[in-house]
Amino acid sequence: MAEGNSRAARHKRAMQRKKEHVDKRIAAATESRGLLIVLTGNGKGKSSSAFGMLARSVGHGLRCAVVQFIKGTWDCGEQRLFADNPLVEFHVMGTGFTWETQSRETDIAAAKSAWANARALLRNASVELVILDELTYMLTYGYLDKAEVLEALRGRPPLQHVVITGRNASRELLEIADTISEVKDVRHAFNHGVQAQKGLDY
Ligand code: ATP
Ligand code: MG
Repeated sequence: MAEGNSRAARHKRAMQRKKEHVDKRIAAATESRGLLIVLTGNGKGKSSSAFGMLARSVGHGLRCAVVQFIKGTWDCGEQRLFADNPLVEFHVMGTGFTWETQSRETDIAAAKSAWANARALLRNASVELVILDELTYMLTYGYLDKAEVLEALRGRPPLQHVVITGRNASRELLEIADTISEVKDVRHAFNHGVQAQKGLDY
């Protein structure tokens, strides 16, 4: 076979073309600003992805904050890891979720109190990354005023990144997001009788 058509030569040409394409796209992406990232869908991986970005940010010395809008994740590994880190401010919603408290009033009060923390963070330009974990449910259940939440997100400091997680992200939230990932549920061990695993699920 001629040298020019060998597998190695074809691979080299393909990689050169790919590199030119990627280099062009990197050169075109010149903007740097605060992003709104929404991680939604029914599959596993939304909160753990958000905490992955927290780990990256802390690694770069950025000042970060997390507001968790549901209880039950108190003993999660990420909170243990970041609890004493001076770069990370943690707020966990005080009471349980609907099926635990079964009181709409208690849930709404807890949601509002967690939201007060979030709103203050969304006005604080020195906080570079804000994670609003499971925020979508507060909007789905009507616990928080959607217009107020959207307004706070839109009016946040221009360089501040926000990551929102939770299923069924509302259309209005998706409209103002810069990056959206929908995690698809293909299979989950829990649905086959496996209990939540330390380190993987919490
Ligand atoms: P993770 O925190 O693992 O990234 P998640 O944030 O995408 O998960 P949540 O809906 O917040 O998903 O659920 C949190 C818990 O429920 C985790 O223990 C997770 O493994 C589990 N879980 C997530 N998706 C599913 C699913 N499709 N079926 C069963 N359990 C799930
Ligand atoms: Mg989650």
